Amino acid sequence: MISVEEASRLIASVNLPLPAESVPLEQASGRVLRESLFADADFPPYDRVTMDGIAIAYQAYQQGCRAFEIASMQTAGSPRQKLEATTHCIEIMTGAIRPEGTDTVIRYEDLRMREVKGRRIAEIDPAVSIAAGQNIHRKGNDRQAGSLLCSPGIRISPAEIAIAASIGKSRLQVSSLPKVAIISTGDELVAIEQQPLPHQIRKSNPYMLAAALQEMGAHTSLHHFPDDAAEIEVQLSSLLNSKQVLVLSGGVSMGKADYIPAVLEQLGVEKLFHKVRQRPGKPFWFGRRGQCVVFALPGNPVSAFVGCYRYLRPWISAQMGEHPPAALYAELAQEVRFKPALRYFMQVQVQSRPDGQLLAQPLQGAGSGDHANLLRCNAIMELPGEEREVFEAGTSFPIYPFRRLA
Ligand code: AMP
Ligand code: MG
Repeated sequence: MISVEEASRLIASVNLPLPAESVPLEQASGRVLRESLFADADFPPYDRVTMDGIAIAYQAYQQGCRAFEIASMQTAGSPRQKLEATTHCIEIMTGAIRPEGTDTVIRYEDLRMREVKGRRIAEIDPAVSIAAGQNIHRKGNDRQAGSLLCSPGIRISPAEIAIAASIGKSRLQVSSLPKVAIISTGDELVAIEQQPLPHQIRKSNPYMLAAALQEMGAHTSLHHFPDDAAEIEVQLSSLLNSKQVLVLSGGVSMGKADYIPAVLEQLGVEKLFHKVRQRPGKPFWFGRRGQCVVFALPGNPVSAFVGCYRYLRPWISAQMGEHPPAALYAELAQEVRFKPALRYFMQVQVQSRPDGQLLAQPLQGAGSGDHANLLRCNAIMELPGEEREVFEAGTSFPIYPFRRLA
C-alpha cells in the first residue's frame, strides 16, 4: 500500500500523447490552448474616442475658448478627418479615430448646443473643467503590437476567445481530446431502463464518470464486464488495443469475484500500484500497457467519485497540457475526528464567508456506498488522517470542488 503522494507521483509519471489540433474559434471555448497568441497590432490600434461629444484642440481651450463651431461630424468606422481651425471642433462618436488636429474629447453631457444663423455651436458648461487628452484611449496603451497575449496551457474562456478574434485568429491550436473507455463491472448491476430484482442495483458509476470526463471534453464510450474472468479477458484485451485510457470501476478489492487486477496483469498491463492509504477508495489499481493507461477504481460510488476528482481529472488536464490550477483551501467549520491512519477524503459543503474565507461544513454521509450524500455537497476535502485523529475547527485543508462553490 502506498501514500496518496506516491500514487500521485506515479500517475503523473505516465504520459499520454495528445497532439495539438486546429479548431474553429467558435468551438474553442473550454479547450486547452496549445499555441502562443501575439498582438498583430497595437491594442487599441488607433487613438480611440471613448465618449460621444466633440473633439477639440486643447490649446484653444487653454487660451480661453469655450464655444466651438461644429465643422463636421465623424462617426465610428468613418475615415479620419482633419480639424482645420482651432476655434472649430468635430462632432465625434465613441469608437471613432481621433481626428487630426484634435487631442481632447468633451462629452455631450458637458456641452450646451445652440444654433446661430444656421451654424451649430458647442459651448462648454462653465462648471466643468477639461483635462488635456481626456476621453481618448491611446493607441498601444493596453498592449503593443507583437507582444505576447496568451501562452499555451490556458483553458480557453470567453476572454481568450475575444482576444483571438481581435487578432484575426479564426482557428486555434488546442489539445486533442483523449478517447476514454469507461467500464463498469459486477453481476449485481443492471441497465438504467431495467427494474432491478431484489438482489440487483442499477449501474451509476459509468454515467457519473462519463459526465465528469465529458465536462473536460474527453470522448467517452461505455462498457460493462460481468464478474467472469474469461469474459473480462476477451473484452479488456480489445479495449487495451483501441483506447488511450481505460477507467474501470469495481472488481479491484479482495472479493472472490474481484478479477480485474489479475486479468490486467495477465494481459501484460504493468501495475504501477494497487491500494492507496486513503478512505474512501483504498483498493485503487493503476497501470499501463504501451499507449494505454488504466485507472481501475473501486466500485463503491463515492470511492469512484473521489478517485475521479482527486486523480483522474487532474491527470487528464495535465495530459492536455493545462497549467495545474493553484491548490484551493477551505477552513473547517467544525471539528472532525477520524481514527484510521488513512488520508481521509471527506465530503463537504463549502461556502464563502463575508470576509472572503472559504468555510467547509463536513457532511460525512453513510460511507462510500452513500452516493446520495454527494447531492448535499460541493467539494471533497483532503484531511491527513495518517498523521492525526483530530482536525480542529478553523484549520484549513485542500479541497477539490465538483460544482461551483457559490
Ligand atoms: P466492488 O468494488 O466491485 O466490490 O463493488 C463495491 C460496491 O460498489 C458494491 O456494492 C457494488 O454493487 C457497487 N458498485 C460497483 N459498481 C457500481 C456501479 N457501476 N454503479 C453503482 N454501484 C456500483
Ligand atoms: Mg464488483
